[in-house]
Amino acid sequence: MAVTARCDCDGEETPIFRLAAVILDGKMARVCPSCASKYKDRIEMPYSPRADQGAIQPSTSREVW
Ligand SMILES: [Zn+2]
Repeated sequence: MAVTARCDCDGEETPIFRLAAVILDGKMARVCPSCASKYKDRIEMPYSPRADQGAIQPSTSREVW
């Protein structure tokens, strides 16, 4: 018998090893695989690299010559 817990999104009873611990709307939540794909725009993985490093702008400095 698998140990189950409820998904924090839809309350779906889910085997605990299938639940993903994520950050949903800034709060820790355990979500089942279907919610994880459904709400992936709102979910942050706590251990994934931050996505805010894409703002590298070309330098306008010419003093490197
Ligand atoms: Zn769910």
